[in-house]
Amino acid sequence: MQTHDVFVIGAGLAGLRCAVELAARGREVVVLEAADRVGGRQRTDRVDDFTLDRGFHVLNTAYPAVRASVDVDRLGVRAFPTAVRVRRTDGTMATLGHPLRHPNLVPATLASGFVTRRDLAGLLRWLGPIALRPGVAVTRPDGTIGKGWDAAGLTGPLRTEVLSPFFSGILADASESTSNTYVRLLARSFLPAGAGLPRDGIGALPRALASRARAAGADIRVGRAVSRLRRRENRWEVRALGEGRLLARDVVVAVGAESLDVLMDVPVPATRGLQTWWFAAEEPPVSAIITVDGTREGPIVNSLAISATIPEAAPRGRHLIQATCLWAPDRAAPEPEVRAQLTRLWGRASASWELLRRDDIPHALPALPPPMRRPSPARIGDGLHIAGDHRETPSIQGALLSGMRAARSVLEGG
Ligand SMILES: Cc1cc2nc3c(=O)[nH]c(=O)nc-3n(C[C@H](O)[C@H](O)[C@H](O)COP(=O)(O)OP(=O)(O)OC[C@H]3O[C@@H](n4cnc5c(N)ncnc54)[C@H](O)[C@@H]3O)c2cc1C
Repeated sequence: MQTHDVFVIGAGLAGLRCAVELAARGREVVVLEAADRVGGRQRTDRVDDFTLDRGFHVLNTAYPAVRASVDVDRLGVRAFPTAVRVRRTDGTMATLGHPLRHPNLVPATLASGFVTRRDLAGLLRWLGPIALRPGVAVTRPDGTIGKGWDAAGLTGPLRTEVLSPFFSGILADASESTSNTYVRLLARSFLPAGAGLPRDGIGALPRALASRARAAGADIRVGRAVSRLRRRENRWEVRALGEGRLLARDVVVAVGAESLDVLMDVPVPATRGLQTWWFAAEEPPVSAIITVDGTREGPIVNSLAISATIPEAAPRGRHLIQATCLWAPDRAAPEPEVRAQLTRLWGRASASWELLRRDDIPHALPALPPPMRRPSPARIGDGLHIAGDHRETPSIQGALLSGMRAARSVLEGG
């Protein structure tokens, strides 16, 4: 039976980040990944010469853990406009833009009807203190984002037609029940940099991490689903597809929340799902700005013409548009409803768009209700450590940070 130093189970961002750190510190690391490639929830496919991520992702290059993990410049990140198009309750479209990044959008923003004195004051009360001193957020009692907006007096159309629909797509939560502290920190993280995507799709991020891990000496094995994990004397024994039984001194379990119960007996966090529809259009989309539906008439929470910012994502002369809905376990959004809403958001031309793929992702994000967890300890037993976004925050930043913490826990001999 092979004996190793450390196993990392799962090659998503958390597992890969952990493997980079451990291998760089001279530990012998074997990463066992069930899928046929690295990346976990972050994967990208080429379909008919279009670049399709599995679901709609964005990368915030200001996340400290991203900057500490990969050479961001080499990812070729293209920034989406820091702006939002909104379908108002009267059926017309409005645009709001970041005044410093898009001064040309200031007149449209002021004319949108969303910038009222009252809502602006509410927004400042909600975000202002933490924008200046992020530490403030975690020291205050936490509640739901809905209660946070109420308390700040953010109750007008800016909330109901813009912020609430916008964040429902980011958090996979339409009920405003996510931790207010987390959402404030999330909103703040987008102040220094907007959202973007690597030219080759979100899968470029885990691929860059995997390259770093391999260069440092980690052995990453794909197609190796681990079906069992048990303590055997002072070692951990894993049973993995294509490997049989293996032994190691330390194990880091870096699987997603939904897969934890196969391997261990720990409380399993609830997850929230998303569904993304990918369309090909022949004519250029009317805007490169992310679009939300303030009326909430229909299943789509956001839609974006990816190729308006990343032309390489579509073959020459064609255009790539995503439309994301919240995942409903009992029923997928019906295509006629999705198309009818797209027509309202983008105009009649959308009726002829070709459907390239629909991604159903029931376990997109771990739920983060209040109070926001303090970092959960990575070590949960002798030589047993756990990593993943469910241990931190449901985000790239959270997954990478948890991977670093798990590596530290192994290195400290915890
Ligand atoms: C559609 C979508 C959009 C998102 N958008 C954003 C965004 O815009 N910004 C942001 O910050 N975050 C976003 N996220 C969240 C972010 O992608 C995740 O937080 C992060 O990728 C989680 O990484 P992880 O390593 O914790 O878990 P995972 O990526 O789930 O990795 C776990 C790995 O473990 C493997 N595995 C599971 N069971 C086993 C087993 N028994 N044996 C071996 N391997 C196993 C899995 O195959 C997987 O590769 C999004 C997520 C989704 C799904």
